Amino acid sequence: MTGSIRLFTTQALASDLNIQATPEQAHYLANVMRRGVGDIVVLFNGVDGEFNAEITAIKRDRAVFALRDKLRPQLALPSMTLIFAPLKRDTTTFVIEKATELGVTHIRPVFTDRTQAGRVNLDRFHATAREAAEQCERLCVPLIDEPVRLFDLLGAWPHDRLLFAAIERADAKRPEFRPNPAALLVGPEGGFTQTELDAMRRLSFVKPISLGPLILRAETAVIAGLALVQACESR
Ligand code: SAH
Repeated sequence: MTGSIRLFTTQALASDLNIQATPEQAHYLANVMRRGVGDIVVLFNGVDGEFNAEITAIKRDRAVFALRDKLRPQLALPSMTLIFAPLKRDTTTFVIEKATELGVTHIRPVFTDRTQAGRVNLDRFHATAREAAEQCERLCVPLIDEPVRLFDLLGAWPHDRLLFAAIERADAKRPEFRPNPAALLVGPEGGFTQTELDAMRRLSFVKPISLGPLILRAETAVIAGLALVQACESR
């Protein structure tokens, strides 16, 4: 599979269909990757699995794919949600990319008292997740959920679903195995405020997890936390 260009499409996929590339895909294939008629790429759409597709026409910002053999059937990833306070733009991109590689199925930005970013660009989040999914051979792109304020998130959280909260300097144990769906909450650069920590401590569905004795940057905590939750969930 090395070297295959993988592209996400929103169109239905089945052998023998012909589908249009988006202008961005056509431009990328023709001008960036220098692909031409007869070249094969791999397409997936998060629903129908993964297919070989032959480029049958390509010009400027238009291209047509003829779908060939099915490479893999669709496989659902276990549900895993990352809830994180948006960081600086490049760091947020990094977080979304790594979360996608680590198998997160839902990404939700959360605004906490100390969250620096005032606005988030969900289209940009989605584009980052799509590119990462194309690159890491996922069959689906993580869903980007609407941003929410921390207290609204906690207020609406189903009480029978655990929320693992990464909290530094907490006397937290390693999470025990629980069935899906998993959810991990990571705070902003400045950490959670005492008010937020007190509120979370009162909620039985919030399970504090420690990621070790050192204070990690938020983006490091996302990666370490996802690896830990995933390891516990899949046992
Ligand atoms: N500036 C804060 C630290 C914030 S770290 C301070 O010095 O107190 C940013 C986020 O990463 C935190 O909100 C927490 O969710 C997570 N985090 C960092 N280190 C962690 C650790 N050792 N265990 C659990 N979570 C951690």
